[in-house]
Amino acid sequence: MKEVLLIKNGELALKGLNRGTFEDILVKNMKRRLMNSVGKFTFLKSQSTVIATPSDDDIDFDEAVETVKKIFGIAAFSRAAVAEKDFEDIKRVALEYLGDELRSVKTFKVNAKRSDKRFPMTSPEICREVGAHLLRNIKTLSVDVHNPDITVTVEVRDNNVFIHGNQIKGAGGMPVGSAGRVALLVSGGIDSPVAGYMMSKRGLQLTAIHFAAPPYTSQRAEMKVRDLVSIVAKYSGRVNFAIVNFTKIQEAIKENCPEELFTIIMRRLMMKISLRLAKRDECGALVTGESLGQVASQTLGAIACTDAVADMPVFRPLIGMDKDEIIAISRKIGTFETSILPYEDCCTVFTPKHPRTRPTLELIEEAENAVDFSEMIEEAIRTVRYESID
Ligand code: ATP
Ligand code: MG
Repeated sequence: MKEVLLIKNGELALKGLNRGTFEDILVKNMKRRLMNSVGKFTFLKSQSTVIATPSDDDIDFDEAVETVKKIFGIAAFSRAAVAEKDFEDIKRVALEYLGDELRSVKTFKVNAKRSDKRFPMTSPEICREVGAHLLRNIKTLSVDVHNPDITVTVEVRDNNVFIHGNQIKGAGGMPVGSAGRVALLVSGGIDSPVAGYMMSKRGLQLTAIHFAAPPYTSQRAEMKVRDLVSIVAKYSGRVNFAIVNFTKIQEAIKENCPEELFTIIMRRLMMKISLRLAKRDECGALVTGESLGQVASQTLGAIACTDAVADMPVFRPLIGMDKDEIIAISRKIGTFETSILPYEDCCTVFTPKHPRTRPTLELIEEAENAVDFSEMIEEAIRTVRYESID
Protein backbone atom coordinates (compact mmCIF):
# COMPACT_ATOMS: atom_id res chain seq x y z
CA MET A 1 0.00 0.00 0.00
CA LYS A 2 1.28 3.41 -0.92
CA GLU A 3 1.99 5.67 2.05
CA VAL A 4 2.81 9.35 2.48
CA LEU A 5 3.54 11.73 5.33
CA LEU A 6 1.28 14.75 5.80
CA ILE A 7 2.45 17.82 7.68
CA LYS A 8 -0.26 20.39 8.14
CA ASN A 9 0.36 24.11 8.38
CA GLY A 10 -1.23 24.16 11.83
CA GLU A 11 1.37 21.63 12.93
CA LEU A 12 4.30 23.78 11.94
CA ALA A 13 5.89 25.46 14.88
CA LEU A 14 5.84 28.98 13.57
CA LYS A 15 2.96 31.02 12.34
CA GLY A 16 2.93 34.47 10.80
CA LEU A 17 5.49 36.51 9.02
CA ASN A 18 8.38 34.18 8.37
CA ARG A 19 6.30 31.14 7.70
CA GLY A 20 7.31 30.76 4.05
CA THR A 21 11.03 30.81 4.81
CA PHE A 22 10.59 28.47 7.76
CA GLU A 23 8.64 26.04 5.67
CA ASP A 24 11.35 26.07 3.02
CA ILE A 25 14.06 25.35 5.60
CA LEU A 26 11.97 22.59 7.11
CA VAL A 27 11.37 20.92 3.76
CA LYS A 28 15.08 21.12 2.97
CA ASN A 29 15.90 19.53 6.35
CA MET A 30 13.36 16.75 5.88
CA LYS A 31 14.60 16.01 2.38
CA ARG A 32 18.16 15.72 3.55
CA ARG A 33 17.52 13.75 6.72
CA LEU A 34 15.20 11.27 5.02
CA MET A 35 17.74 10.89 2.22
CA ASN A 36 20.40 10.06 4.81
CA SER A 37 18.31 7.54 6.71
CA VAL A 38 15.91 5.82 4.28
CA GLY A 39 15.98 7.31 0.79
CA LYS A 40 14.57 9.92 -1.51
CA PHE A 41 11.26 11.69 -0.87
CA THR A 42 9.54 14.31 -2.97
CA PHE A 43 7.67 17.17 -1.38
CA LEU A 44 4.53 18.91 -2.51
CA LYS A 45 2.88 21.90 -0.87
CA SER A 46 -0.81 21.61 -1.38
CA GLN A 47 -3.77 23.18 0.39
CA SER A 48 -1.91 24.14 3.57
CA THR A 49 -0.24 20.74 3.82
CA VAL A 50 3.23 19.49 2.95
CA ILE A 51 2.92 16.02 1.41
CA ALA A 52 6.08 13.88 1.55
CA THR A 53 6.03 10.98 -0.90
CA PRO A 54 8.74 8.30 -1.10
CA SER A 55 10.32 7.90 -4.54
CA ASP A 56 10.81 4.15 -4.07
CA ASP A 57 8.09 1.64 -3.24
CA ASP A 58 10.29 -0.46 -0.97
CA ILE A 59 11.31 2.36 1.37
CA ASP A 60 11.39 1.53 5.11
CA PHE A 61 8.45 3.68 6.16
CA ASP A 62 8.73 2.91 9.89
CA GLU A 63 12.26 4.23 9.78
CA ALA A 64 11.10 7.29 7.84
CA VAL A 65 8.57 8.03 10.61
CA GLU A 66 11.28 7.66 13.26
CA THR A 67 13.46 10.10 11.33
CA VAL A 68 10.70 12.70 10.98
CA LYS A 69 9.86 12.43 14.70
CA LYS A 70 13.30 13.87 15.39
CA ILE A 71 13.09 16.83 13.03
CA PHE A 72 12.56 20.13 14.80
CA GLY A 73 9.86 22.47 13.54
CA ILE A 74 7.09 19.86 13.37
CA ALA A 75 4.58 19.72 16.23
CA ALA A 76 2.65 16.78 14.78
CA PHE A 77 2.26 14.86 11.52
CA SER A 78 0.26 12.04 10.01
CA ARG A 79 1.23 8.82 8.33
CA ALA A 80 -1.37 8.20 5.65
CA ALA A 81 -2.33 5.64 3.03
CA VAL A 82 -3.20 6.75 -0.48
CA ALA A 83 -6.50 5.59 -2.01
CA GLU A 84 -8.10 6.11 -5.40
CA LYS A 85 -10.89 8.65 -5.73
CA ASP A 86 -13.35 5.88 -5.68
CA PHE A 87 -15.54 5.03 -2.72
CA GLU A 88 -15.00 1.26 -2.90
CA ASP A 89 -11.26 1.83 -2.80
CA ILE A 90 -11.58 4.24 0.13
CA LYS A 91 -13.42 1.61 2.18
CA ARG A 92 -10.96 -1.11 1.22
CA VAL A 93 -7.89 0.99 2.06
CA ALA A 94 -9.36 2.24 5.36
CA LEU A 95 -9.96 -1.30 6.58
CA GLU A 96 -6.70 -2.70 5.28
CA TYR A 97 -4.53 0.18 6.48
CA LEU A 98 -6.04 0.83 9.90
CA GLY A 99 -7.63 -2.57 10.64
CA ASP A 100 -4.89 -3.85 12.97
CA GLU A 101 -4.79 -0.62 14.91
CA LEU A 102 -8.59 -0.48 15.19
CA ARG A 103 -8.72 -4.06 16.42
CA SER A 104 -6.44 -3.14 19.30
CA VAL A 105 -8.72 -0.37 20.63
CA LYS A 106 -12.37 -0.02 21.64
CA THR A 107 -13.71 3.19 20.12
CA PHE A 108 -13.30 5.30 16.99
CA LYS A 109 -14.88 7.97 14.89
CA VAL A 110 -14.51 9.00 11.28
CA ASN A 111 -13.66 12.50 10.20
CA ALA A 112 -13.91 13.44 6.52
CA LYS A 113 -12.51 16.45 4.69
CA ARG A 114 -13.55 17.00 1.14
CA SER A 115 -11.56 19.74 -0.51
CA ASP A 116 -12.48 18.41 -3.96
CA LYS A 117 -16.10 19.40 -4.16
CA ARG A 118 -16.60 17.39 -7.38
CA PHE A 119 -16.38 14.18 -5.37
CA PRO A 120 -19.92 12.73 -5.46
CA MET A 121 -20.30 12.12 -1.72
CA THR A 122 -20.52 14.77 1.01
CA SER A 123 -18.33 14.66 4.08
CA PRO A 124 -21.14 13.41 6.39
CA GLU A 125 -21.90 10.66 3.87
CA ILE A 126 -18.26 9.59 3.74
CA CYS A 127 -18.11 9.49 7.55
CA ARG A 128 -21.26 7.44 7.81
CA GLU A 129 -20.38 4.92 5.11
CA VAL A 130 -16.75 4.42 6.10
CA GLY A 131 -17.81 4.14 9.76
CA ALA A 132 -20.45 1.52 8.91
CA HIS A 133 -17.95 -0.44 6.83
CA LEU A 134 -15.41 -0.54 9.67
CA LEU A 135 -18.07 -1.50 12.24
CA ARG A 136 -19.28 -4.33 10.00
CA ASN A 137 -15.78 -5.74 9.69
CA ILE A 138 -14.43 -5.20 13.21
CA LYS A 139 -16.99 -6.49 15.69
CA THR A 140 -15.15 -5.30 18.81
CA LEU A 141 -15.33 -1.67 17.75
CA SER A 142 -17.86 1.00 18.70
CA VAL A 143 -18.29 4.67 17.87
CA ASP A 144 -17.44 7.46 20.29
CA VAL A 145 -17.65 10.88 18.68
CA HIS A 146 -16.45 12.77 21.77
CA ASN A 147 -13.43 10.87 22.99
CA PRO A 148 -12.47 8.15 20.50
CA ASP A 149 -9.33 6.04 20.86
CA ILE A 150 -8.69 6.54 17.16
CA THR A 151 -9.96 9.16 14.76
CA VAL A 152 -9.99 7.84 11.22
CA THR A 153 -9.52 10.77 8.86
CA VAL A 154 -10.45 10.60 5.18
CA GLU A 155 -9.16 13.53 3.12
CA VAL A 156 -10.49 13.80 -0.41
CA ARG A 157 -8.08 16.05 -2.26
CA ASP A 158 -7.54 17.08 -5.89
CA ASN A 159 -5.57 14.07 -7.04
CA ASN A 160 -5.81 11.51 -4.27
CA VAL A 161 -7.56 10.44 -1.15
CA PHE A 162 -5.51 10.18 2.04
CA ILE A 163 -6.56 8.01 4.94
CA HIS A 164 -4.94 8.14 8.35
CA GLY A 165 -5.36 7.41 12.04
CA ASN A 166 -4.26 9.53 14.97
CA GLN A 167 -1.56 12.12 14.54
CA ILE A 168 2.01 11.39 15.55
CA LYS A 169 3.68 13.81 17.95
CA GLY A 170 6.62 15.64 16.40
CA ALA A 171 9.78 17.01 18.01
CA GLY A 172 8.42 20.56 18.27
CA GLY A 173 10.82 23.48 18.28
CA MET A 174 11.93 25.43 15.21
CA PRO A 175 13.55 24.18 11.99
CA VAL A 176 17.31 23.87 12.42
CA GLY A 177 19.00 26.59 10.43
CA SER A 178 16.26 29.14 10.98
CA ALA A 179 18.06 30.81 13.90
CA GLY A 180 21.77 30.75 13.03
CA ARG A 181 24.66 28.72 14.45
CA VAL A 182 26.22 28.22 17.88
CA ALA A 183 29.31 26.43 19.17
CA LEU A 184 28.65 23.71 21.75
CA LEU A 185 31.45 22.80 24.15
CA VAL A 186 30.91 19.07 24.28
CA SER A 187 32.42 16.64 26.76
CA GLY A 188 31.69 12.95 27.19
CA GLY A 189 29.33 13.68 30.08
CA ILE A 190 25.57 13.68 30.42
CA ASP A 191 24.96 17.41 30.31
CA SER A 192 26.54 18.95 27.24
CA PRO A 193 24.83 16.66 24.66
CA VAL A 194 21.49 17.59 26.28
CA ALA A 195 22.44 21.29 26.08
CA GLY A 196 23.20 20.86 22.35
CA TYR A 197 19.87 19.15 21.76
CA MET A 198 18.01 21.94 23.54
CA MET A 199 19.62 24.76 21.59
CA SER A 200 19.20 23.05 18.25
CA LYS A 201 15.54 22.67 19.12
CA ARG A 202 15.39 26.47 18.98
CA GLY A 203 16.48 26.34 15.35
CA LEU A 204 20.25 26.63 15.79
CA GLN A 205 22.81 24.71 13.80
CA LEU A 206 25.67 23.27 15.82
CA THR A 207 29.41 23.39 15.74
CA ALA A 208 30.68 21.05 18.49
CA ILE A 209 34.06 21.65 20.11
CA HIS A 210 35.77 18.96 22.17
CA PHE A 211 38.99 19.28 24.16
CA ALA A 212 41.04 16.12 24.36
CA ALA A 213 44.30 15.61 26.26
CA PRO A 214 46.08 12.59 24.86
CA PRO A 215 47.72 10.50 26.25
CA TYR A 216 45.87 11.37 29.48
CA THR A 217 42.63 10.84 27.61
CA SER A 218 42.24 7.86 25.31
CA GLN A 219 41.16 7.26 21.76
CA ARG A 220 38.10 5.53 23.13
CA ALA A 221 37.12 8.58 25.15
CA GLU A 222 37.23 10.57 21.92
CA MET A 223 35.14 7.93 20.14
CA LYS A 224 32.56 8.22 22.88
CA VAL A 225 32.23 11.97 22.33
CA ARG A 226 31.94 11.41 18.59
CA ASP A 227 29.15 8.88 19.25
CA LEU A 228 27.35 11.40 21.44
CA VAL A 229 27.63 14.08 18.78
CA SER A 230 26.22 11.72 16.18
CA ILE A 231 23.19 11.00 18.40
CA VAL A 232 22.62 14.75 18.83
CA ALA A 233 22.98 15.10 15.04
CA LYS A 234 19.90 12.90 14.56
CA TYR A 235 18.01 15.94 15.85
CA SER A 236 20.24 18.84 14.91
CA GLY A 237 21.27 17.65 11.46
CA ARG A 238 24.89 17.90 10.35
CA VAL A 239 27.32 18.99 13.06
CA ASN A 240 30.70 20.53 12.39
CA PHE A 241 32.84 18.72 14.97
CA ALA A 242 36.17 20.19 16.09
CA ILE A 243 38.65 18.31 18.27
CA VAL A 244 41.23 20.44 20.05
CA ASN A 245 44.43 19.04 21.49
CA PHE A 246 44.57 20.49 24.98
CA THR A 247 47.46 18.51 26.45
CA LYS A 248 50.18 21.15 26.48
CA ILE A 249 47.90 23.76 27.96
CA GLN A 250 46.74 21.46 30.72
CA GLU A 251 50.29 20.46 31.57
CA ALA A 252 51.28 24.11 31.70
CA ILE A 253 48.38 24.86 34.05
CA LYS A 254 49.32 21.95 36.26
CA GLU A 255 52.94 22.97 36.45
CA ASN A 256 52.48 26.69 36.92
CA CYS A 257 49.16 27.53 38.52
CA PRO A 258 47.81 27.04 42.06
CA GLU A 259 46.00 23.73 42.25
CA GLU A 260 42.78 25.17 43.65
CA LEU A 261 42.41 27.25 40.47
CA PHE A 262 43.14 24.50 37.90
CA THR A 263 39.56 23.92 36.83
CA ILE A 264 38.58 27.54 36.46
CA ILE A 265 41.71 28.48 34.53
CA MET A 266 41.27 25.48 32.30
CA ARG A 267 37.67 26.46 31.70
CA ARG A 268 38.68 30.02 30.76
CA LEU A 269 41.27 28.76 28.30
CA MET A 270 38.73 26.39 26.77
CA MET A 271 36.46 29.40 26.36
CA LYS A 272 39.16 31.51 24.74
CA ILE A 273 39.94 28.83 22.18
CA SER A 274 36.25 28.08 21.63
CA LEU A 275 35.53 31.76 20.95
CA ARG A 276 38.13 31.81 18.20
CA LEU A 277 36.80 28.61 16.63
CA ALA A 278 33.22 29.83 17.01
CA LYS A 279 33.98 33.03 15.11
CA ARG A 280 35.69 31.04 12.38
CA ASP A 281 32.44 29.10 11.97
CA GLU A 282 30.24 32.20 12.13
CA CYS A 283 28.63 31.17 15.41
CA GLY A 284 26.64 33.75 17.35
CA ALA A 285 27.10 32.21 20.80
CA LEU A 286 28.77 29.48 22.84
CA VAL A 287 26.74 26.76 24.57
CA THR A 288 27.78 24.75 27.63
CA GLY A 289 26.11 22.07 29.73
CA GLU A 290 26.61 23.88 33.01
CA SER A 291 23.98 23.78 35.72
CA LEU A 292 24.20 26.12 38.67
CA GLY A 293 25.88 24.67 41.72
CA GLN A 294 26.36 21.21 40.26
CA VAL A 295 30.12 21.20 40.85
CA ALA A 296 32.69 23.68 42.15
CA SER A 297 33.32 25.21 38.73
CA GLN A 298 29.62 25.92 38.30
CA THR A 299 28.99 28.27 41.21
CA LEU A 300 27.80 31.78 40.44
CA GLY A 301 31.27 33.14 41.15
CA ALA A 302 33.03 30.57 38.99
CA ILE A 303 30.65 31.12 36.09
CA ALA A 304 31.22 34.87 36.33
CA CYS A 305 34.98 34.31 36.11
CA THR A 306 34.56 32.01 33.10
CA ASP A 307 32.24 34.47 31.38
CA ALA A 308 34.70 37.31 31.87
CA VAL A 309 36.73 36.03 28.90
CA ALA A 310 33.73 35.72 26.58
CA ASP A 311 32.92 38.43 24.06
CA MET A 312 29.84 36.69 22.75
CA PRO A 313 26.80 35.32 24.58
CA VAL A 314 27.27 32.04 26.43
CA PHE A 315 24.07 29.99 26.55
CA ARG A 316 23.62 27.53 29.41
CA PRO A 317 20.24 25.93 28.74
CA LEU A 318 20.56 23.60 31.76
CA ILE A 319 21.40 26.31 34.27
CA GLY A 320 18.24 25.91 36.34
CA MET A 321 17.77 22.18 36.02
CA ASP A 322 18.34 19.36 38.51
CA LYS A 323 20.46 16.42 37.50
CA ASP A 324 17.46 14.08 37.36
CA GLU A 325 15.66 16.43 34.98
CA ILE A 326 18.73 16.51 32.74
CA ILE A 327 18.99 12.72 32.88
CA ALA A 328 15.33 12.39 31.86
CA ILE A 329 16.01 14.37 28.67
CA SER A 330 19.23 12.48 28.08
CA ARG A 331 17.31 9.19 28.23
CA LYS A 332 14.60 10.53 25.95
CA ILE A 333 17.03 11.62 23.25
CA GLY A 334 19.15 8.48 23.57
CA THR A 335 22.48 9.88 24.79
CA PHE A 336 22.34 8.60 28.37
CA GLU A 337 23.68 5.08 27.83
CA THR A 338 26.68 6.41 25.93
CA SER A 339 27.28 9.28 28.37
CA ILE A 340 27.68 6.92 31.34
CA LEU A 341 30.37 4.79 29.69
CA PRO A 342 33.39 5.14 31.96
CA TYR A 343 35.99 6.95 29.88
CA GLU A 344 38.05 9.74 31.30
CA ASP A 345 37.56 13.37 30.36
CA CYS A 346 40.37 15.89 30.25
CA CYS A 347 38.73 17.83 33.10
CA THR A 348 38.55 14.89 35.44
CA VAL A 349 42.16 13.89 34.82
CA PHE A 350 43.32 17.22 36.18
CA THR A 351 40.68 17.80 38.85
CA PRO A 352 42.12 19.49 41.93
CA LYS A 353 41.44 17.95 45.33
CA HIS A 354 40.09 21.20 46.76
CA PRO A 355 38.79 23.47 43.99
CA ARG A 356 38.06 27.02 44.98
CA THR A 357 34.35 27.72 44.84
CA ARG A 358 34.67 31.49 45.28
CA PRO A 359 37.55 32.50 43.08
CA THR A 360 38.20 36.18 42.49
CA LEU A 361 38.95 37.41 39.03
CA GLU A 362 42.03 39.18 40.34
CA LEU A 363 43.50 36.01 41.75
CA ILE A 364 42.80 34.09 38.56
CA GLU A 365 44.23 36.71 36.24
CA GLU A 366 47.33 36.93 38.35
CA ALA A 367 47.82 33.16 38.17
CA GLU A 368 47.21 33.13 34.41
CA ASN A 369 49.58 36.00 33.77
CA ALA A 370 52.42 34.01 35.31
CA VAL A 371 52.28 31.73 32.26
CA ASP A 372 52.48 32.72 28.59
CA PHE A 373 49.66 30.68 27.08
CA SER A 374 49.43 32.62 23.83
CA GLU A 375 51.67 30.40 21.69
CA MET A 376 50.04 27.27 23.13
CA ILE A 377 46.62 28.67 22.23
CA GLU A 378 47.76 29.43 18.67
CA GLU A 379 49.14 25.91 18.31
CA ALA A 380 45.93 24.34 19.63
CA ILE A 381 43.96 26.35 17.07
CA ARG A 382 46.37 25.50 14.24
CA THR A 383 46.11 21.78 14.95
CA VAL A 384 42.33 21.47 15.35
CA ARG A 385 40.90 18.43 13.60
CA TYR A 386 37.55 18.91 11.90
CA GLU A 387 34.96 16.30 11.06
CA SER A 388 31.49 16.55 9.68
CA ILE A 389 29.01 14.36 11.55
CA ASP A 390 25.46 13.57 10.54
P1 ATP B 1 29.07 17.35 31.15
O1 ATP B 1 28.14 16.28 31.62
O2 ATP B 1 28.55 18.08 29.97
O3 ATP B 1 30.47 16.84 31.00
P2 ATP B 1 29.62 18.19 33.78
O4 ATP B 1 28.48 18.30 34.69
O5 ATP B 1 30.48 17.00 33.84
O6 ATP B 1 29.09 18.43 32.30
P3 ATP B 1 31.95 19.84 33.75
O7 ATP B 1 32.77 18.67 33.48
O8 ATP B 1 32.30 20.77 34.84
O9 ATP B 1 30.44 19.50 34.03
O10 ATP B 1 31.82 20.68 32.44
C1 ATP B 1 30.97 21.79 32.34
C2 ATP B 1 30.81 22.13 30.86
O11 ATP B 1 32.06 22.47 30.28
C3 ATP B 1 30.32 20.95 30.05
O12 ATP B 1 28.91 20.83 30.08
C4 ATP B 1 30.84 21.30 28.68
O13 ATP B 1 29.99 22.24 28.04
C5 ATP B 1 32.18 21.94 28.98
N1 ATP B 1 33.26 20.93 28.93
C6 ATP B 1 33.75 20.20 29.94
N2 ATP B 1 34.73 19.38 29.50
C7 ATP B 1 34.88 19.58 28.19
C8 ATP B 1 35.72 19.06 27.16
N3 ATP B 1 36.63 18.14 27.40
N4 ATP B 1 35.59 19.56 25.91
C9 ATP B 1 34.65 20.51 25.65
N5 ATP B 1 33.83 21.03 26.56
C10 ATP B 1 33.94 20.59 27.82
MG1 MG C 1 32.06 16.58 32.42
